[in-house]
Amino acid sequence: MTTPKLPAKPDGFHDECGVFGIFGHADAAAHVALGLHALQHRGQEASGIVSFDGRQFHSERALGLVGDHFNAESVIRRLDGVAAIGHNRYATTGETVFRNIQPLFAEFAFGGLAIAHNGNLTNARELRQSLVARGCIFQSTTDTETIIHLIATSGAGGVVDRLIDALRQVVGAYSLVALTGTMLLGVRDALGVRPLVVGMLDDAYVLASESCALDIIGARFERDVEPGEIVVIDSGGLHSLRPFPVGRRRFCVFEYVYFARPDSMVEGLSVYETRKRIGAELAREQPAVADIVVPVPDSGVPGAIGYAAEAKLPFEIGIIRNHYVGRTFIEPTDRIRHLGVRLKHNAAADTIRGKRVVLIDDSIVRGTTSIKIVEMMRHAGAAEVHMRIASPPTMNPCFYGIDTPDRDELMAANLSLEQMRQRIGVDSLGFLSIDGLYRAVGEPRRFAHRPQYCDACFTGDYPIALVDQDGGHRPVQLSLLSEAV
Ligand code: AMP
Repeated sequence: MTTPKLPAKPDGFHDECGVFGIFGHADAAAHVALGLHALQHRGQEASGIVSFDGRQFHSERALGLVGDHFNAESVIRRLDGVAAIGHNRYATTGETVFRNIQPLFAEFAFGGLAIAHNGNLTNARELRQSLVARGCIFQSTTDTETIIHLIATSGAGGVVDRLIDALRQVVGAYSLVALTGTMLLGVRDALGVRPLVVGMLDDAYVLASESCALDIIGARFERDVEPGEIVVIDSGGLHSLRPFPVGRRRFCVFEYVYFARPDSMVEGLSVYETRKRIGAELAREQPAVADIVVPVPDSGVPGAIGYAAEAKLPFEIGIIRNHYVGRTFIEPTDRIRHLGVRLKHNAAADTIRGKRVVLIDDSIVRGTTSIKIVEMMRHAGAAEVHMRIASPPTMNPCFYGIDTPDRDELMAANLSLEQMRQRIGVDSLGFLSIDGLYRAVGEPRRFAHRPQYCDACFTGDYPIALVDQDGGHRPVQLSLLSEAV
């Protein structure tokens, strides 16, 4: 499929993130800190917590991992109250600065409000320009701050109506948690691109990007927040509002491929079981004559288990990962990124030597990981290396909250399959097809209605207008917006 050329992504506006909130529980901030620990994979650059103690808001924000700052008792003690929200941030370009750390907090005419956002607003730049022209003074470069100013300048009455008014003006993918003096709010965009779940801990309500963050505090999973839904949690319990026209859901399929934690349930599916089904589908579509199946850890592990079971080949941990090194993507330059990959993985040479290896990873983005890992396999004496990727080629950048580089850095967008095979240095290379991915992630009933996910990174079908990129002129499938499923 050909996809039109897109302009480069703007700096500073693309985050991957995790959000968490709790209302009505003692030690609210400590629970948020635990939740953020479980969501660390969604963002490692910075984190923050805002709590409300019945009289005032308290805020702690810090660069680095959650444990770097929020493990100290003194920090948690400063975050007094029975309600709190938190955020993990992951932005790879643009500014890694203190003022961009969320939750953002502002005092409004109606009182204080803190907000934490996972996703990307695709008209943030346009909105920002018009807000600045109206006299708004921005303090950060995150897209989330536009929501703050839209709330502040809204003519609507209460805080919820102002939030609804603000969100009617934004275009993009968002899962939000917000905290006021009286309530915790959770919102998902109309297509439900990013995840957000509701849980309960005793009588307290919890909101989290993924269910693994409920598990860590012993909270019970209740349900997903629905696309286009606002959940309002206050002393009276949880009320649901549906102020936005809801389209057909387009949950991000890449959450299943790579991003979500395998022990999470998202949109009714276990991430781990889904990844194993993806691996099995890959084995059916892209078999290889080989002796062993080896995952690129950790992201390739569930897929490799599924592949090995389907192909009836032994599964071997042929690459050991050093868990004390961060993700390669955190590194800012190519040179350091290359070093990072070597730091991170080592081949178990005895297991690999003389073997025909099927190497499984979830995705190829720039190709950096694959090149290094294959070099390592050869060095360890592999007789043959057959690389199989548990997703279709990543051809298009994400504008909805997953960090992918611009198209000119995406290996699959620039090289043919054969050129990729040569560049990576494997004997064969195979990707899962988009149909295979849909077979693995959908129940038959659901995938009759394809597309049922946002799969833009693979297909170039962007379901939400990219206003800042091209004025929103790319064809958005408006027919989908009027169809409720
Ligand atoms: P690359 O080395 O650029 O080809 O990146 C591919 C590797 O990064 C794979 O092992 C993936 O598991 C992982 N990966 C894929 N997408 C992302 C992402 N958005 N952020 C961080 N890592 C990713």
